[in-house]
Amino acid sequence: MLKCKEVVEKADALVDGTPLSWRERFALRLHLMMCHHCRRYVRQLQSLVASLRNRTPPPVSDDQVSKVMNQLDSKS
Ligand SMILES: [Zn+2]
Repeated sequence: MLKCKEVVEKADALVDGTPLSWRERFALRLHLMMCHHCRRYVRQLQSLVASLRNRTPPPVSDDQVSKVMNQLDSKS
């Protein structure tokens, strides 16, 4: 049986898709079934990673827009 500390250490791999051996995966799942602290931790980590992945690109600044507009103007 894994300790919570070990689960936390391996949670990163679990969340970001790093391949784990079936043994590790099984041990993690088993622990998560029994330990709601770790379950909550993994869930938070998963939503954090998901929000980082889905982050929209920063909005274009006015400066960039005017630069592009100037370029367009100079071409015409
Ligand atoms: Zn635990």
